[in-house]
Amino acid sequence: MKFWKRGLSVVLSVALLFFTSCAHKALRSSRTIFAMDTVMTVTLLGSQSEQALEAAVSRIFELDALLSATNESSEIAKLNAAGGADIQLSSEVYELLESAVAYSARFAGFFDCTLAPLVSLWGFYTDELYIPTQEELQAALNTVGYQNIRLKGANIAALENGAQIDLGGIAKGYAAEQIRDLLSSYEIDSAILDLGGNVLALGEREDGTSWRVAVRDPVQTNDSICVFKGSDISFVTSGSYQRFFEENGVHYHHIMDPKTGIPAESDMLSVTIITENSEYADVLSTALFVMGYEEAVQFWRASNDFEAVFVLETGEVILTEGASSLLDSQIEALVLYR
Ligand code: ADP
Ligand code: MG
Repeated sequence: MKFWKRGLSVVLSVALLFFTSCAHKALRSSRTIFAMDTVMTVTLLGSQSEQALEAAVSRIFELDALLSATNESSEIAKLNAAGGADIQLSSEVYELLESAVAYSARFAGFFDCTLAPLVSLWGFYTDELYIPTQEELQAALNTVGYQNIRLKGANIAALENGAQIDLGGIAKGYAAEQIRDLLSSYEIDSAILDLGGNVLALGEREDGTSWRVAVRDPVQTNDSICVFKGSDISFVTSGSYQRFFEENGVHYHHIMDPKTGIPAESDMLSVTIITENSEYADVLSTALFVMGYEEAVQFWRASNDFEAVFVLETGEVILTEGASSLLDSQIEALVLYR
């Protein structure tokens, strides 16, 4: 039996629409689309919000068509299908691959952009759970490793040892940053981009107050555990509740452990990263989820460029110091200090 669940990991608190008569009359335009295999809502404020919305939505679909591992005509799918031959990529895809490889090296053993054979084997591309045999798992694992990606310059790449790329752990964060850039040419500095749980809050709401972003409760997924306020900041969640199958009481989710090839046996239900850059937040949320709580906390203590919310298997919620200072709701949680 297959249970399929797709969760929006955040609930945006939607403020009342105020069309004030002040000089900076802000038009609000918003649209919800299905792209990159998830539900996305783009909300923009500004006098050119309608035109910007059109451009933003087109850009998201364009990125989906370039980066999808399952769309045969995408550049990534072509590279994956090339059997090791050199493939000429667009500079955009080449540069994103460079970034994905660099993150994979930095978070080796936790984040890897070559997990496509595993994601495919377990059935996450077809939404049909398959529990692999030990041989199948080993065969897929033998192809895994960002070291198998050859970036040869001049936008030419090749994959060795049967490696196959999946950018699912970075694409939405990258897309959010791309939309941020695009918005500046429409003079939009207030927006909330919810790209399937990758939230980027820019500027303020019509009334001058910060955007509110809720973190979803990974157990009661219709509820939130807390609400944050923030401007020019990203909130990105990875969790085992976002996409999973259940069979014979076993929970199989979509975040893979690159070392074992099986869904990461994390002691956390979700990790939310709060930091400026959405791409970094996207990678970190996946990497820290795979790392597990103790190592994730150590990593946070040794860093100074992000804050986090950890929800443990026990249901306990732990906030880093900086995260707690952005709270806009009451919550019973342990606060970690650096
Ligand atoms: P979501 O896409 O649900 O927001 P993540 O950002 O954590 O969640 O990314 C998970 C996606 O990234 C998976 O669907 C898969 O395509 C890919 N992926 C799974 N495990 C890893 C991993 N350990 N490192 C990099 N990418 C991964
Ligand atoms: Mg991620």
